[in-house]
Amino acid sequence: KGVVHRICAGQVIKDLSSAVKELVENSLDAGATSIEIALKEYGEEWFQVVDNGCGISPNNFKVLALKHHTSKLSDFPDLQSLTTFGFRGEALSSLCALANLTVETRTKNESVATHLTFDHSGLLTAEKKTARQVGTTVTVKKLFCNLPVRSKEFSRNIRKEYGKLISLLNAYALIAKGVRFVCTNTTGKNVKSVVLKTQGSSSLKDNIITVFGMNIYNCLEPVAICKSDSCKVEGFLSKPGQGSGRNLGDRQYFFVNDRPVDLPKVSKLVNELYKGANSRQYPIAIMNFIVPTRACDVNVTPDKRKVFFSDECSILHALREGLQEIYSPNNA
Ligand code: ADP
Ligand code: MG
Repeated sequence: KGVVHRICAGQVIKDLSSAVKELVENSLDAGATSIEIALKEYGEEWFQVVDNGCGISPNNFKVLALKHHTSKLSDFPDLQSLTTFGFRGEALSSLCALANLTVETRTKNESVATHLTFDHSGLLTAEKKTARQVGTTVTVKKLFCNLPVRSKEFSRNIRKEYGKLISLLNAYALIAKGVRFVCTNTTGKNVKSVVLKTQGSSSLKDNIITVFGMNIYNCLEPVAICKSDSCKVEGFLSKPGQGSGRNLGDRQYFFVNDRPVDLPKVSKLVNELYKGANSRQYPIAIMNFIVPTRACDVNVTPDKRKVFFSDECSILHALREGLQEIYSPNNA
């Protein structure tokens, strides 16, 4: 049973960024306005997500990391109108199976916090009082420690995994309004560097300026496409002629209803139309697709990065038309 659980867990938590992503989404679901991500040795030793959200109430301590425990879904019809990030109750249980997990948490009803330790099967093994503000800290030590092959792979690719994680954190920092993000990495003998730091402003524009800087913001122009009620696109794209000669995979961020997702077809289309208008350049793109929740399914893969639009064709079509209008020569 342990082995099967570990294998399944390895599908929810594929790498460093999917692990941190689950924790950050839990913090967002908990209503946090401040989320701090701390890494030790790029995440290879441990990583930690500290939030000021609602905290976890004591009657959930025992079941917290058991498979399929979730506090977010009361009955099945909820699935249709789902707005929280989580609901499968798989993240904490998977992290337990793959690493050493501890949680420190306090709700507004408690005067002290509690430090919780879990074993690999998700059972609560120790509980002690500690001092903490309202909110939750989840610490994950030695990810993949009990999957030897994956663990080796993880160490070998740690810089790449770290890069992917930073780009994911950028995505949340860009789109989450009013949430302050800080990410630090500690290497060697306590050399701590701040990798990301935002104020949690309330506009995408200000978030772009804090994440990428004024120089990059000045090369962008707002895009707003509204072809029908079923699809609106809002965001920023490089101004014509201000793109880059190489494909900036790390400078293209797509969101569906404020949720960071991979949209390879959209990326391809945007690159194609931009290049068409500006010779051989690739744009920076930060684009949020606003669609009715019923028109898309973000739960296709366990990590919810893949999105399935029920009417993908018409969304791509709307985007194509919208961008062609923006880039048509008579418009310039
Ligand atoms: P899910 O997010 O799908 O519900 P998780 O395994 O990610 O499942 O988390 C299990 C439960 O633990 C959540 O439903 C929530 O009640 C609680 N939880 C996890 N992280 C936090 C957090 N940062 N703040 C408050 N509650 C949390
Ligand atoms: Mg979750």
